[in-house]
Amino acid sequence: MTSTWTEPANTPLALLLLGQGTDPASERGVDCPGDLPAPSDPDLVARATAAKAALGDRVFVLGHHYQRDEVIQFADVTGDSFKLAREAAARPDAEFIVFCGVHFMAESADILTTSAQKVVLPDLAAGCSMADMAVLGQVETAWDQFTDLGIEGDIVPVTYMNSSADIKGFVGRNGGVVCTSSNAKRALDWAFEQGQKVFFLPDQHLGRNTAVLEMGLTLDDCVLYDPHKPNGGLTAEQLRDAKMILWRGHCSVHGRFTVESVREVRERVPGVNVIVHPECRHEVVRAADQVGSTEYIIKALEAAPAGSAWAVGTELNLVRRMALEHPDKRIMFLDRAVCYCSTMNRIDLPHLVWALEELVAGRVPNQITVDPDTAKYARVALDQMLALP
Ligand code: SF4
Repeated sequence: MTSTWTEPANTPLALLLLGQGTDPASERGVDCPGDLPAPSDPDLVARATAAKAALGDRVFVLGHHYQRDEVIQFADVTGDSFKLAREAAARPDAEFIVFCGVHFMAESADILTTSAQKVVLPDLAAGCSMADMAVLGQVETAWDQFTDLGIEGDIVPVTYMNSSADIKGFVGRNGGVVCTSSNAKRALDWAFEQGQKVFFLPDQHLGRNTAVLEMGLTLDDCVLYDPHKPNGGLTAEQLRDAKMILWRGHCSVHGRFTVESVREVRERVPGVNVIVHPECRHEVVRAADQVGSTEYIIKALEAAPAGSAWAVGTELNLVRRMALEHPDKRIMFLDRAVCYCSTMNRIDLPHLVWALEELVAGRVPNQITVDPDTAKYARVALDQMLALP
C-alpha cells in the first residue's frame, strides 16, 4: 500500500508566526559561528557518515522526534526530551553528546551527564519559544509577590521540562519538581501532597489540561499569571483563592491548533480519530478523542488497526514520519497549514556535518554548559521527578 500522506500547505504567515528570524530576547546566539557546508553540497550524507565513523564511540547523537529526517537518520537514539536526557545520562563513556534538539534539552543533558562529557548543540539558535517565555528575573518577581502576600509557603513550584536550566534551578531551590507531558499528573499529585497550591511553569496549557482533565480541578481553580502585567494581572484575592497559578507561556506550534481544525477534519474525514498533545489549548484537547505526550501519540498510532484514520495535533516532522512509516493507516496533520517547530528545524544536515567535522578536527563547537550552582539545584528538581512514584 502506498502512503496517503498529503503535505499541508506552506504559508509564509505560518512560518513568520512560528519564530523565523532573530530573537533578540533569547539568551542564545542567533547565528552559527561556523563555516557551514552549503545545503546543496551533494556529499553531505557521505561527510556526516565519515565524520561519525571517525569519532566512533566517542560521540553519541541524540535526535528529538521533531527533528528533520535528514538529521534523524544519523541519530543513535530518538525520543522526547525526557527520554533523550536519560539516554545521554546512560552513556558516560561517550565523550561528546551531539544533541539534535533545542537548547533547554542540551542543558538538561549537560546537567545529567558527567563533567568529563561535552554536550554540543549544532546550532545555537535552536531554542524554544515556550522556554523563552519564562525568564528567571520575572519568575523571582512573581515569587516575591507571593512572599509579600504570605502565600509562598503554601506553593510548590512545578516546571515543565521545556524550560531553561535557570527555571529548573529556581524550582529545585524552592522545593519543587520538573515534569514532562507523560508524568505531569504524577508530578501534580506529589506537589499537592507537599502544599496547597501549585505554581506551574511555563506552559499554561499543560498545567490547565492536567489539572482540569486529570485531577478534577475546575477552570475556576486556575488563574493565569501574566509576567508582563503588574502583579501578574491578578488581585491578591485571586492569588489566595487559586489552586493552580499558571504561568502565561505556551508552545507556538501546538498553540496553533483550533477547535475549528478539529471540526473541519471530522467533517472532511468521517470516523477520524483526533489525537493531540497536551500543549494544545484546553478547548482543542476537549474536542479531541485522545490526548497524550509525543511518546503516547507514537504508541497509539503504532497500535492502531490498519485502515483507521488519524488526525494528529503535534509537530509536523513527527506526523509526516509516522504517516510514511505506517502506510496502512491514514495519518494526517490536524491543521491544513504547515506547522513545523522552526527552531527545531534550525538543525539541518549542514549544521550536523559542521559540528561532527569540528569534533573530528579536535575542536568542540557550540558546547552547552550550565553553571555549577544552577546545575546543582536543577538536578534536585530533576531527581525529584525521577523519584516520583
Ligand atoms: S515544539 Fe513548542 S515546546 Fe517544542 S521546542 Fe518547539 S516551540 Fe518549544
